[in-house]
Formats: sequence, C-alpha cells, structure tokens
Amino acid sequence: MKNIQLAVIPGDGIGKEVVPEALRVLDTLSEVHGGLKFDAIHYPWSSDYYAEHGEMMPKDGLDQLRQSDAIFLGAIGDPSIVADHISLNGLLLKIRREFEQVINVRPAKQIKGIVSPLGNPRDFDIMIVRENSEGEYSSSGGRVHNGEDEIVIQNAVFTKKGVSRVMEYAFQLAEQRSGHVTSATKSNGIVHSMPFWDEVFSEVSEKHSNIPTNSEHIDALSAFFVTKPHTLDVVVASNLFGDILSDLGAAIMGSIGIAPAGNINLNGKYPSMFEPVHGSAPDIYGKGIANPIGQIWTAKMMLDHFGEPEMGNVLLEAIESSLEAGIKTADIGGHSNTKEVTDAIIARIKK
Ligand code: ATP
Ligand code: MG
Repeated sequence: MKNIQLAVIPGDGIGKEVVPEALRVLDTLSEVHGGLKFDAIHYPWSSDYYAEHGEMMPKDGLDQLRQSDAIFLGAIGDPSIVADHISLNGLLLKIRREFEQVINVRPAKQIKGIVSPLGNPRDFDIMIVRENSEGEYSSSGGRVHNGEDEIVIQNAVFTKKGVSRVMEYAFQLAEQRSGHVTSATKSNGIVHSMPFWDEVFSEVSEKHSNIPTNSEHIDALSAFFVTKPHTLDVVVASNLFGDILSDLGAAIMGSIGIAPAGNINLNGKYPSMFEPVHGSAPDIYGKGIANPIGQIWTAKMMLDHFGEPEMGNVLLEAIESSLEAGIKTADIGGHSNTKEVTDAIIARIKK
C-alpha cells in the first residue's frame, strides 16, 4: 500500500459538509481495495479563519502545504464574511500560482442515473484540458479615456512553453485513454495567437502520431458539446475557451453538484490541487442536503492522478449504481440527504 500525504482544506459552506464525506469514501476504498492510502492533514483555512485572523491562511501556509502530495479542497467563499475577490486571492489563486498549477482538467461525462439536460444523448466522456496560467486572462493592456473616442486594449499572452505543455498533457491523457484530441481554436478570426496555437498543436501532434486529432473553431465546438458530445474525447483549450467549455461541460452533465476538477502541477515540484466545480453554496449550507458526488468524484480524479484508475473505476461504478437506485439529493431530483448518498456509495464499495 502506498501512502499519500493529503492536505485537506474543507473551506467554507458546503465544503465543510462534503469533504468529510469524500474522505470517508476514500478510507473505505483503501480498506477494501488497497492500493493507495490517504493520510489526511486538515487545515481550517476559510472565511471563518479570516474573521478571526484577518487572513485566509497563515503567513507560512504555503510552506505547510508544500510537503504534501496533493491538496484536496472543498470550496472557498463566504461573501457574508469576506468579499469573494479577497478570499479567492488569499487562498485559492495563491495556491494555484505558487504551486504552478498551470493546467485545469475537468471531465464532462454522462453518468448513469442522471438525466442530462440534452435529454438522452449517446454516452459522452470528455476531458477538458484548459491552459490555466496565461492566454486571454492577462493583465496586459490599458484604457485611453477620451470621451466618445475612448479606446481599450486587452492583450492575450501565449508563450511557446505555456502552449506546448498544455498540448503535451492533452496528448498524454489521450494516450492513456486510447482516445483522440480536439483543439479549440479560432484562427479564422483571431489572427496572431490562434494561428500560433494551431502551429504548436501540429508540432506536438507530430510527436504523438498514433493519436488522431482534429481542430475546431470554438463557436462550432461549443455547438458540438450540445449536438454530438459523444464524438469528443480530450479537448484542449486556451484559458478563456477552456473556461467557457468547462461550464458547458458541467451543464450537460446535469448538475453543478456532481462535477469535479483538478489543478495540475506538471513539473512534479509541487502538489496538484483537486476540488469540485461547485462553490460553497451558502443557500443550502447547514441543511445537510448538499450533493456530495462532486467532491467524491474529485477523489476519483485524485486516484487517477496517482496511477490507481482501478480504484477510481470502483468508485465511479459505486456512484452510478447508487444513483440508478434513486439515492439522490434534491439538486438532481431526489429526496436523500448528503449522508445517505455517501452511505449508499460506501455500501456498494464494500460489496
Ligand atoms: P462560485 O463558487 O463560482 O462563487 P456560486 O457561489 O455562485 O459559485 P455555487 O456555490 O456553486 O455557486 O452554487 C450555485 C447553485 O448551485 C446554488 O444554488 C447552490 O445551492 C447549488 N449547488 C452548488 N453545489 C451544490 C451541491 N453540491 N449540491 C447541491 N446544490 C449545489
Ligand atoms: Mg460562491
């Protein structure tokens, strides 16, 4: 059995409810299937922590996390205590930047027991690989205030290093999945960055000549997420395009409460961070009705990350089987509470 040092930050709101549930599931998986064991160290950093200490995490917070193998995050944000931009910058974005988590990965997969808003599409299983450090979200640019003639310039920054590494990651993922890679581009309208994006995509694809590829303009590709998601496998996209596609991907899955995400450090120097797509959901916090599946599926992503896809598959099958039995929280049309859903998943893992 391999031990993984896991830094656990439940954070705010329903993060505090679903993180312990996901850890219960992980513990059961280790007991029943061996493979990996997660040794959790808990950090209480959150908006409540801010209320007491005036900061989201202590000064040496990053140093405390640095030694861990991965970070398992719930959700950050409680606007009744601290403005979102302060809490996000003071914890989440700080961790992403310091630990060079330059790629964001999100599956968009149809799972059994949940009806997609698309109705009954053919099974889809997409991995969205988003560049997470540069691109369109750059601070370069400015405004010239001149009344009616005001001019605003917003630059996008694409580096060879940044684009190559996200492409390389996408191809390696496609290799593991025996899949193919679709690049999200817009080189018919954006005349500098996107032709460059296409060039690097071709270059990297030559190194992986066994992997089929195609390149689609972002407008058409967005439509394909709706009209034929089953034709997509790994989708690689810039920061902005990936941001939009990720939300679209979560939407076609059927609920924000089930979608997971990973922020990946590529050079192995620092921990990667895994978190569900949903936020702290203050509107339902304290009622015990939050859907724990987003957090539990996030744990599956961690198992995949540490090279234990079989454990991850056992977990996903347990999730699907309990959903098919109708054990669901209200956001996906059921009547069960958070604990009941987790218990049902655990019972199936033990079978
Ligand atoms: P952000 O974190 O980006 O600020 P937000 O706070 O606007 O997002 P969420 O916290 O994700 O959004 O919540 C959006 C809606 O989805 C809320 O109505 C919330 O109750 C619901 N929701 C989010 N996560 C879950 C969950 N795990 N189970 C049930 N409902 C959820
Ligand atoms: Mg929020």
